[in-house]
Amino acid sequence: MATRADIKCHNCENTFQVFWHSFENQLPIMCPYCSKELDEAMTEKLKNALGTVWNLNYHFRKNHEERKNEPLFTVDFAHVHVPIEKFDLDN
Ligand SMILES: [Zn+2]
Repeated sequence: MATRADIKCHNCENTFQVFWHSFENQLPIMCPYCSKELDEAMTEKLKNALGTVWNLNYHFRKNHEERKNEPLFTVDFAHVHVPIEKFDLDN
């Protein structure tokens, strides 16, 4: 089980990945293409978000393995960036 964040860097428009299981080894979190870096507060928020997703999926699997007939779920999250000026608020 691996929990991964796909991070889009809007400075260079590339996407890179950060993994929960090796989070500390990836510090500081930065775009490998243009070297823009997450600040300390955002790194902490990213760590908390990844940990929460890992924990959710861990418990889905644990419950499935420990309880008979408990369905297995896995959850992925995706965030789609849309520039604010592209929103058509009239529709
Ligand atoms: Zn970049």
